[in-house]
Amino acid sequence: MRIAIYPGSFDPVTLGHLNIIERAASTVDQLIVGVLENQTKSPLFTADERVEMIEQVTKEMPNVSAKTFNGLTIDFARQCGAQLIVRGLRAITDFEYELQMAQTNRILAPEVDTVFFTTELKYAYLSSSTVKEVAHFGGDIECFLSPLVAERVYKKLANKNSSGGKS
Ligand code: ADP
Repeated sequence: MRIAIYPGSFDPVTLGHLNIIERAASTVDQLIVGVLENQTKSPLFTADERVEMIEQVTKEMPNVSAKTFNGLTIDFARQCGAQLIVRGLRAITDFEYELQMAQTNRILAPEVDTVFFTTELKYAYLSSSTVKEVAHFGGDIECFLSPLVAERVYKKLANKNSSGGKS
């Protein structure tokens, strides 16, 4: 059984992520999307909300699941029984960081390999943070996200604004 994890923040999951998920899932038996519960960043969505959105947008993909994780990616890979870590590469700016992480993980866990999927060109400049920034200033985000995710972003920002940014 070939199992891969796809770790990241996914705050929220974008069409760029989804494209990587679809392509990675077609090459393995099971793909587990790992949502990092990062305490240092202040995310727009809780880790559980991010998992739920990924579950919704991948519900037609039977070999894809999502769960939260904390700590080292390789520990999460081992817990999942995964042999592969999937990452997406957008531009050269991703490359140095990704290479450093992959090399470090390889030293820590030689039995787990990292595989990279290059972005679909139309998503090369798409990131969750760009989407949040566009949404924050009232721009249209529907070309970057699944409709249900876009809806959740609008709702979250509206709640945040009405509660003075406390949610
Ligand atoms: P971001 O907040 O920048 O979207 P994530 O931590 O959520 O980053 O990303 C998880 C993984 O998905 C990383 O390997 C990242 O390079 C990749 N990724 C993010 N956006 C895209 C995209 N538009 N196309 C391809 N890969 C992507």
